[in-house]
Amino acid sequence: MHALEISNLEKTYASGLQALKGIDLTVEEGDFFALLGPNGAGKSTCIGIISGLVNKTAGSVRIFDHSIDQEFILAKSLLGSVPQEFNFNTFEPTEEIVINQAGFYGVPSRVARKETEHYLKQLGLWQHRRSQARRLSGGMKRRLMIARALIHKPRLLILDEPTAGVDIELRRSMWDFLEQINDQGTTIILTTHYLEEAERMCRNVAIIDEGNIIQDTSMKLLLKQLNSETLVFYLRDNLEQVPRLASFDNIIKLDHHSIEVEIPEQHSINDLIAELEAQNIVVQRMRNKVNRLEELFVKLTSKTDRTSAA
Ligand code: ADP
Repeated sequence: MHALEISNLEKTYASGLQALKGIDLTVEEGDFFALLGPNGAGKSTCIGIISGLVNKTAGSVRIFDHSIDQEFILAKSLLGSVPQEFNFNTFEPTEEIVINQAGFYGVPSRVARKETEHYLKQLGLWQHRRSQARRLSGGMKRRLMIARALIHKPRLLILDEPTAGVDIELRRSMWDFLEQINDQGTTIILTTHYLEEAERMCRNVAIIDEGNIIQDTSMKLLLKQLNSETLVFYLRDNLEQVPRLASFDNIIKLDHHSIEVEIPEQHSINDLIAELEAQNIVVQRMRNKVNRLEELFVKLTSKTDRTSAA
């Protein structure tokens, strides 16, 4: 069974900008799926359409084989969605926000209270249940959005950048939580900027760029394409010309004290440092040129201008 089936989905905003150019995407039931892409690629637009927050221009979306056009209420009842923007009444108490949401889906009040307690406890918000949502930290608000999205037990959960602005420790506990509900059978789709996040959790992945799907594959196969890394090395002494090294071809001199080197999978940084030292070139410091996700986007889309922004 497909949890999600998108075909020929198009979105042109009133400004004339075509944010989605006819995309096809299928997500299997039980999957943990990543929708990746650079800023402005069309991820939020896509998620907004699936969640009923954005009107599509053309194409179709089916959630567990129910059309969001013809069977909107049924399709929506199977979906939980966590948009990027906090969209609850911040003056309401945390607990009430979740319980009220259950009401929209016809969950009986007694069940709603019990489920709310369950999710608020699981997400570490129980002690804040009586606090107005505006008193919660950013990470807590994000978790409140997740509790609210889960209260009617959706079979498909979609999260738009769930860990944006969330500190590392909290991010890890959120990952654990999401893995747990995926293990229990909920299909999860997320957009993220953290390759580490997608890499850790997602089995399948699609990459969207300028409104087109440019990759739709398993995480494993995608990461295989990322078999080299570019690093910047800062040198102790003045460098007159680009050194010639036996194992490294792609070396660029950035200035008199720094070079950029692509490290292929079969060689290590130690190999590079040894080869440089053999020519009396001493490395003092180094750094990653770009994050890996950025590097992947650059490779796949051949847009080198994006690296300079990193
Ligand atoms: P992503 O989530 O991948 O960053 P978005 O879906 O937010 O991308 O945006 C895709 C494109 O659509 C961008 O060029 C963005 O500026 C544009 N866009 C998004 N929302 C609107 C809107 N409400 N009106 C006009 N253009 C929009």
